[in-house]
Amino acid sequence: MKILKFGGTSVGSIASIKALMSILESELPQGNPIVVLSAFSGVTNQLIDIAEKARQEQDYSAELKSIENRHFDVVRALLPAAAQNPVFSKLTIYFNQLEDILQSVSVLKELSPQTRDLILSFGERCSTFTISHLARQHFKDVLAVDGSEYIKTDAAFGNARVNTALSDLLIQNFYNLHQASLLFVTGFIASTDDGRITTLGRGGSDYTAAIWGSALAASEIQIWTDVDGMLTADPRIVEKAFPLKELSYTEAMELSYFGAKVVYPPTMTPAFLKKIPIVIKNTFNPAFEGTYIRPDTQPSDLPIKGISSINDVTILNLSGSGMVGKSGFSGRLFSLLSREQINVILITQSSSEHSITFAVKPDDAVNALQMINKEFELELQTNKLEYPSLESNLSVIAIVGENMRHTPGMSARLFNALGRNGVNVRAIAQGSSEYNISVILSKEDLSKAVNAVHDAFFSQLKKTLHVFCLGTGNIGKTLFSQLHSQMPYLAQHNDLEVKVMGISNSRKMHLSMEGIDLSSWEETLETYSEKADLQHFVKRMRAMNLPNCVFVDNTASAEPVQFYEQVLKSSISVVTCNKIGNSGDYSQYQAFKKAARTAGVDFYYETNVGAGLPIIRTLRDLMLSGDKISRIEAILSGTISYIFNNFRGDRKFHDVVREAQEKGYTEPDPRDDLNGKDFMRKMLILARDAGHPMESSDVSIENMLPAACMAATTVAEFYTSLEANASYFENLKSQAEAAGKVLRYIGKLEHGKVEITLQSVDESHPFYMMSGSDNIISFTTNRYSQRPMVVKGPGAGAEVTAAGVFADIINIGKR
Ligand code: ADP
Ligand code: ASP
Ligand code: MG
Repeated sequence: MKILKFGGTSVGSIASIKALMSILESELPQGNPIVVLSAFSGVTNQLIDIAEKARQEQDYSAELKSIENRHFDVVRALLPAAAQNPVFSKLTIYFNQLEDILQSVSVLKELSPQTRDLILSFGERCSTFTISHLARQHFKDVLAVDGSEYIKTDAAFGNARVNTALSDLLIQNFYNLHQASLLFVTGFIASTDDGRITTLGRGGSDYTAAIWGSALAASEIQIWTDVDGMLTADPRIVEKAFPLKELSYTEAMELSYFGAKVVYPPTMTPAFLKKIPIVIKNTFNPAFEGTYIRPDTQPSDLPIKGISSINDVTILNLSGSGMVGKSGFSGRLFSLLSREQINVILITQSSSEHSITFAVKPDDAVNALQMINKEFELELQTNKLEYPSLESNLSVIAIVGENMRHTPGMSARLFNALGRNGVNVRAIAQGSSEYNISVILSKEDLSKAVNAVHDAFFSQLKKTLHVFCLGTGNIGKTLFSQLHSQMPYLAQHNDLEVKVMGISNSRKMHLSMEGIDLSSWEETLETYSEKADLQHFVKRMRAMNLPNCVFVDNTASAEPVQFYEQVLKSSISVVTCNKIGNSGDYSQYQAFKKAARTAGVDFYYETNVGAGLPIIRTLRDLMLSGDKISRIEAILSGTISYIFNNFRGDRKFHDVVREAQEKGYTEPDPRDDLNGKDFMRKMLILARDAGHPMESSDVSIENMLPAACMAATTVAEFYTSLEANASYFENLKSQAEAAGKVLRYIGKLEHGKVEITLQSVDESHPFYMMSGSDNIISFTTNRYSQRPMVVKGPGAGAEVTAAGVFADIINIGKR
């Protein structure tokens, strides 16, 4: 015989009740199950609210009427008209009784836990009565059972303790008489020996099912709900949570104890003692196998089974010399709390025994504090104990799984995920079973923390990077189109999902919690955007508090740079192709590096030098592996490179510059390239990365243009001046050509000095053969001393730069 429990989410709407009936239909051929039912979804909460309103003499009639109407509507929809009246009359009697009780609460202005339980019992009684009547349309010999008569408890109203021996007996006797019937039993409610109604704690219908299952040695206890089983995390917090096939009772217990509301924790005990499997299944997807909680689970290769969380807890800290070595101290403390029925969610004690921290529900905190002050009055007055402190607005997250015991590095993985996302851990507890590690953190970090930890442990799932992008010029645009087209590949080969959560250019910005669809980002930015405000953008990005965030700067403006440090400090990685940041003051460059290191996030700027070419990364790898850089030589201006590669034969210098401009290789004023400033910035960044604390003024630049050309006031005048100086360039060229050489504008770092000079090089030089707007860089190091390591290729252009930014983003995802 099986127990089938249907939760509030599976009763209370017409569609769900229909689904329930068809589940029963397919079950019946295997023999009658016992059906346990909850109140219609939301009704228990509403009744609590109504009872409180009654106590405060507020009007609750509309809310009460809405509960009544929901039951009536179901009857109207699912019963033939002729069969409706008797059901309406009985329901009306229930609601009249409830109304009478509420009236008395109003008159007395008193709502005792006992009266509240009585009020709550109407939720389960009305639903069970209604549904059993509907079931009569489909099945024979249906019997509605008031479960409160068969589960006996103490008088701890609201969370009563079950007298198992007596309840088992009553259930068995009842079943012996009625086993031929199809029984519909109210969940959640029980009664004291003298017949007063009690409840088994919120979510207690699951427990009812287990108590009946255990008393009758059921073959299985099925918990039917609205999700596909026990998931790896609360699906309302973690979109990627997935259903687990199997759990041990302990794992299920730990997960539910720390917040996985899908089963009520006490449910596991009776089932465990009798080795009865519990199956969690989805009423709306009955074909799915759901989650099995059973004695002999198969070994699993998941590192943990899941992550649970409790949204709101308060912690109390106790410390003082009076606690050291006093074995009776914690005993006294915790028996006090248990006497006062204060449930302690989690305890940690420092190894020096100097302090104890424990977490309770916020409602219990003040009471706990007062009780402690009273109990330990003497110790407090003699300073053996400090006055306990309260800290609220906290949450608990717990990772759970039996595999944790055999796998080293689990806590490192947990704390690494939290640390990298800037989540500050307030306290830690590891159960002695090693089945769980729980940490207390700030409530506002909860969602970020659970998602980050989920990503860290379930690496077979796609990891999500949340990206915020500045700049929608050539590079920004190209990046979006690359991201958009590469998304499926990333998901398949890198287990990575990149979600763009915010975009801003200098005029408009848009941020979205759902992410921005990259196939229509331009329309979105036009339609939904607000006026751009960088400060606000950064503030909102931080407030979204998402895990694995990246701030991408695809601008060439100084403004975003001012935010890098603060962004890095809030544990958000930065990717930038904007050179202004790293080529500013050395102290600023250092501040970025330090902020990234301290927060444990990444600061990547591969495209600062040579666009997408792997230059910065190569240099970093050389340095990290302990190599010593003795010289760097480079051509890092695509524009100048193009000009000298084409300034050959009988071509004129000014014509080549003009051609470069027409092809879009230069800035609007070509002197912005030809003055070597951009080149200087790149050399400066390389020198700094190679370990030289330098300022831009330390870089010497040989001016390759005659002074008159530089002095021209307009671009047109500049070209005229270039033509006037044609013989100067002609000379340079013919001298070089006569010696079998070519002209190259080369940056060099050696002995801690950086200079950029115009040189002529012969064919033995690695920079002799160049084409187009290529960049080239050669690293001479201890290891590469005879033949330098050379990186060469296209060093400019939106496609390659965006690809470099893209690669930086992906590299962040890999960590
Ligand atoms: P019922 O009314 O069927 O008893 P509950 O609301 O008590 O349903 O429990 C089911 C809900 O538990 C799900 O809808 C889900 O939002 C929530 N939940 C929280 N954590 C988990 C988890 N780890 N796995 C599955 N569901 C969870
Ligand atoms: N109706 C009760 C509650 O909401 C019991 C249950 O649903 O399991 O807590
Ligand atoms: Mg429930």
